[in-house]
Amino acid sequence: MKRVAVIGAGLAGLTLARQLRGLAEVAVFEKSSGSGGRMATRRAEPYQFDHGAQFFSVRSKHFERFLEPCIDAGDVARWDADFVEIDAGRIVSGRSWRDGPAHYVAVPGMSALAKRMTEGLDIALETRVTAIFRDGLRWRLLDQNRVSLGEFDWVISAIPAQQACALLPESFAAIAAVAGRKMLGCYSLMLGFTRPLDVGWQAAFVGGADISWISNDSSKPGRPDRYTLLVHSTNRWADENIEAEAEAVSAYLRAELARVMNYDLPPADHVALHRWRYANIEKQAGEHFFIDRDQHLAAIGDWCIQGRVEAAYLSAFEMAQELKSLI
Ligand SMILES: Cc1cc2nc3c(=O)[nH]c(=O)nc-3n(C[C@H](O)[C@H](O)[C@H](O)COP(=O)(O)OP(=O)(O)OC[C@H]3O[C@@H](n4cnc5c(N)ncnc54)[C@H](O)[C@@H]3O)c2cc1C
Repeated sequence: MKRVAVIGAGLAGLTLARQLRGLAEVAVFEKSSGSGGRMATRRAEPYQFDHGAQFFSVRSKHFERFLEPCIDAGDVARWDADFVEIDAGRIVSGRSWRDGPAHYVAVPGMSALAKRMTEGLDIALETRVTAIFRDGLRWRLLDQNRVSLGEFDWVISAIPAQQACALLPESFAAIAAVAGRKMLGCYSLMLGFTRPLDVGWQAAFVGGADISWISNDSSKPGRPDRYTLLVHSTNRWADENIEAEAEAVSAYLRAELARVMNYDLPPADHVALHRWRYANIEKQAGEHFFIDRDQHLAAIGDWCIQGRVEAAYLSAFEMAQELKSLI
């Protein structure tokens, strides 16, 4: 059996690894202490936050088919939020997500989907791949301590574009295309309150501000009942302030939140901030994955298509169909 290394245990890496099960010996390497990547959940008792992806929608048959058993098992559920659009501090429209296409979330937190997918996979956590180089006919990978992670026939990068560009060999046939994909930053502000706020909605797109999204994260299905707000900065503001002090960013976003919500916000009982250096990417044209058939290297991820959960799945799924005929 061919040996395949998958770098990154986000949705794309896990999807690819599952697709290749039984066809190749697949090893997944993940730098964090858990799987899921940007489908992330932060617990801070008694609060809990999805501080990366907020929800996901379904447009393709392949993704729909993948989700069906997850929904049947209760690992994924609809989030029928009351949704509003806020512009310049005013609510300009509103509707219930009950009445339209599903907005799905993993249960009891966004990271639960990855947890379900890791079953039966060989995943090395807290293992950052720092080098990929030729060793005879195969590729050798090194970790953060320059220790060898073994030899592989194929290496598939499933990490954000900028990180893939820095890690993949310069000889990778698609290196210029990967270098051309620019992912945008985002700050997530997490607020926990001792009492529920009565704002009248659970999810909001925000315009005309440095905040793009506000949600009552605890209103999602299966969450702990302590009231939380999850706030995302705009990508533009994050990129302009990506090296700013966390305290200053948190204070600014809280002030912006109070202004945008036009609500007498009580002091939060819990405040935390997360910086996503590579959060999102706008819709891309062209390939859904990048492959170098001669060198047995490839790169996948949402950034090949668009910064959406479904895009991460599709990039990996389509890559796997191609690889199945090559390994
Ligand atoms: C703030 C925010 C909000 C979002 N909101 C939504 C939303 O509402 N709806 C939606 O559909 N999508 C949303 N997204 C996008 C969605 O989260 C992504 O499209 C999807 O999770 C990407 O999956 P992926 O597997 O391609 O990459 P990732 O999830 O980034 O996975 C990459 C993995 O690789 C690991 N890694 C990186 N470098 C290395 C290395 N050298 N060695 C080993 N491991 C490494 C990382 O730790 C990570 O686990 C949001 C993202 C963010 C950040």
